[in-house]
Amino acid sequence: MTDQRTDRDDDSGLMEPRFLRPGESTLSDHDVFPEHEELPQTAYQIVHDEIMLDGNARLNLATFVGTWMNDESKKLVVDAADKNMVDKDEYPRTAAIEEHCWKMLAGLWNAPDPKHTIGTSTIGSSEGAMLGGLALKRRWQQARRAAGKSTEQPNLVMSSAVQVCWEKFCNYFEVEMRLVPISEEHPCLDGSQVADYVDEHTIGVVAIMGVTYTGAYEPVQEIAEALDALQAETGLDVPIHVDGASGGMVAPFIQPDIVWDFRLERVHSINTSGHKYGLVYPGVGWVVWRSRDLLPDDLIFEVSYLGGSMPTLALNFSRPGAPILLQYFMFLRLGREGYRAVQQDSQDVAKYLSAGIAALGPFELWNDGSDIPVFAWRLKDADSHNWTLYDLQDRLRMKGWLVPAYPMPDDLADVTVQRIVVRNGLTMDLADELLDDIRTATEYLEQLQTPMPDTGNRAAFHH
Ligand SMILES: *Cc1c(COP(=O)(O)O)cnc(C)c1O
Repeated sequence: MTDQRTDRDDDSGLMEPRFLRPGESTLSDHDVFPEHEELPQTAYQIVHDEIMLDGNARLNLATFVGTWMNDESKKLVVDAADKNMVDKDEYPRTAAIEEHCWKMLAGLWNAPDPKHTIGTSTIGSSEGAMLGGLALKRRWQQARRAAGKSTEQPNLVMSSAVQVCWEKFCNYFEVEMRLVPISEEHPCLDGSQVADYVDEHTIGVVAIMGVTYTGAYEPVQEIAEALDALQAETGLDVPIHVDGASGGMVAPFIQPDIVWDFRLERVHSINTSGHKYGLVYPGVGWVVWRSRDLLPDDLIFEVSYLGGSMPTLALNFSRPGAPILLQYFMFLRLGREGYRAVQQDSQDVAKYLSAGIAALGPFELWNDGSDIPVFAWRLKDADSHNWTLYDLQDRLRMKGWLVPAYPMPDDLADVTVQRIVVRNGLTMDLADELLDDIRTATEYLEQLQTPMPDTGNRAAFHH
C-alpha cells in the first residue's frame, strides 16, 4: 500500500505529458466534492491554470490592497504559513510581535501613553471597525444605564460615503446607521452638519481618513471641534472613531501636520488596514484605542500566555499569523523614513496621473491624489458624449488595466466617477503606459458617431 502511494505521488514521467492526465484532459464539475485523488502536480496545475484567468493583480488599480512585496517577505510567508495567531501560548514570539506592532501604531498615531494602551491585530479594517463600533456601543450603554436611561435605539453618525463595513456593523450589531448625505458643497462629512445628526442616542461619529469613493480625507479636527461646541451647548459627549483604513498609514508619514489622530482627545479609536498602505499582502488590519479605559473590560477575554494571561479581543478565533509577521517585517524594513519615501512616491505617481488625465480634455478631476494617493474624475457634460466612463473602463480592461467606474453615494448617485488607487508597485513607467492607454481609448471613444450600446445592467463595483 505504502509503495503504491509513493508510486502514485511520483512524477517521474509516469503520466506525462502532464496535460493528458485524467483531471486535465477531462471535464469535471468543480462544485462536486471529488471522488478520487489526483497527483499533487495535477491538482496544482488545475488550480494554477484556473487563476490564470483572474486579472493581473499589479494592474488592478481598483483595489487598495497590497499587490507587491519583496522576496524576503515571500520567504517569511512560507516560514510562518503554519502559525495560528490565536495560539498565543504556543507561539509567544508571534504574540509578542503582534503587540509590538499595535504599540508602534499607537505611537505613530500619538496616543498619550502608547505602551500602556490597548489594541489588536485583526483580519482587516472591517473587523477593526466592528470592534471599534462595539466599544462605542458598550460604553454608551453603560453610561445610559448608569444614568437610569433607556439603552434602546443607539445610532452611529457617518457620511453616506462610508465603506460597506459600517453598514455591516450597524446591521449585525443593531445600531441605526445615521447617514449624512454628501453633496457638491459638502463632498465629505464636515463640521458644519454633524451636530444636526447627533442626539442622546448617538454612540459616536465615524470620520474617514481616506474616503473609499475618492480618497479624500474628512476633516477630523473640524468634526471634533463641532462636537466640542455641541458638548458645551448640550452636555452630550460624543466620541469619534476614525476609519483610517488607508489614511492611517499615509497621513503620519506624508501629512504629519494634519491633526486627525489621538492628538484629538475625542478620537477614542482608530482602525487601519495593514494590507493597504501598511504595505502587506491581504490578511491584516489593526485597531487601537487612545487609552485602556476607552475599551470596556467586558469586551476583553483573557487567554493564557506564558504562564500568565493576556487580554484579547477579536471576532475570530483561528487566524493566520503570517500577515502579522509580514507587518512587523515591513515596520522594521522601512521605518518612518522608508514609509515616507514609499507613500510620497505613490503620491507623486498619483499627481502625475491625475494631471495627465485632467489635461486630456473631456475629464474633470474630483480630486488630485493629494490626500491618500487615490483620485477620481468624471466626464464633463456627461450627457453630451456618445460614451460613458463605463466604456472607458471596458476599453482599458482590454489592455489589462482594471480602472473601475461607479456611481457616487447619496445624494450624488447620479454622478459617475472613475478612480485610480496608486499603490507601491505602480511605477512612473507603468503610469506613463497607463496614461498612453487612457489617451488612446479616450480618442477612440470621442470619435464615435453613434452612442455606445448600453445593456442597462452594469454590475455594481464593490468598494
Ligand atoms: C478598505 C476599507 C475598509 C475595509 O477594509 P478591509 O481591510 O478590506 O476590511 C474600511 N473602510 C475604508 C475607508 C476602506 O477604505
